[in-house]
Amino acid sequence: MTGGSRGIGGAISALLAEDGATVAVVGLPEDQARTQTLASRLNGAAPRVHFYEGDVGLFDQCRAAAEAVRSAHGRIDYLVNNAGITRDHTVRKMSVEEWQAVLQVNLSGPFFMIKAVLDTMVEQGFGRIVNVSSVVGESGNFGQANYAAAKAGLIGLTKTVALEVAKRGVTVNAVAPGFIDTDMTKAMPAEAIENAIAQTPKQRLGKPEEVARLVRFLLDEKAGYITGAVYNINGGWYM
Ligand code: NAP
Repeated sequence: MTGGSRGIGGAISALLAEDGATVAVVGLPEDQARTQTLASRLNGAAPRVHFYEGDVGLFDQCRAAAEAVRSAHGRIDYLVNNAGITRDHTVRKMSVEEWQAVLQVNLSGPFFMIKAVLDTMVEQGFGRIVNVSSVVGESGNFGQANYAAAKAGLIGLTKTVALEVAKRGVTVNAVAPGFIDTDMTKAMPAEAIENAIAQTPKQRLGKPEEVARLVRFLLDEKAGYITGAVYNINGGWYM
């Protein structure tokens, strides 16, 4: 689970831990304290939530985190590529650094994590991968060329890896949330949020827990016939 201490990732970590899963959060150093807080709320009798430091934009760190998880827990059954960032500007104002930073975390990151765990899943004959894309990867969005391109690329990555490992017991799917109430949307101008809500048929932001329930459904052992799919969860904003 990448970026699993707050927002959508925090909700996914909590739901999976409540279900009894062992959750390994791979995150930046700043995430460690938040993950400990989450862990102390959830761990109870069994230590369910663990933190592994890793920047998903750096392959060596992804590989090291995956190796540490594998040697501590013996298996890697699930991967949720959730970590993501925004650096919004129109293309005319977007710097090359803003383009590269978003592609590195939001697209190369999932590729690096998949590469780090896929051999293990194939050897196990079982694996579930869920990539957190975005509605704007399907629709485009003003001021988000880098983010929309990365999230669209993530859908292409999802479908391709799904094809490559379909016979090996590993499924690969994507979820494409609309506007969800997290720090990421809190950072948007109030007017942009009001517009997003007004344009959403459900007339509200989504909740991280709602995305978490969809991710859990796709991770289920019994969801083995679902692969290469993109599940919208956007309150009807894009159909
Ligand atoms: P968020 O609250 O900003 O959380 C993002 C998480 O990613 C944080 O834990 C962050 O760690 C982590 N992260 C960022 N860069 C990282 C890196 N290089 N390595 C490891 N972890 C890193 O975002 P969110 O709204 O929950 O979004 C989660 C995912 O859903 C993202 O992929 C986002 O694009 C996608 N999404 C969100 C929305 C929405 O409306 N919120 C809609 C569609 C899709 P730190 O805490 O250390 O920064």
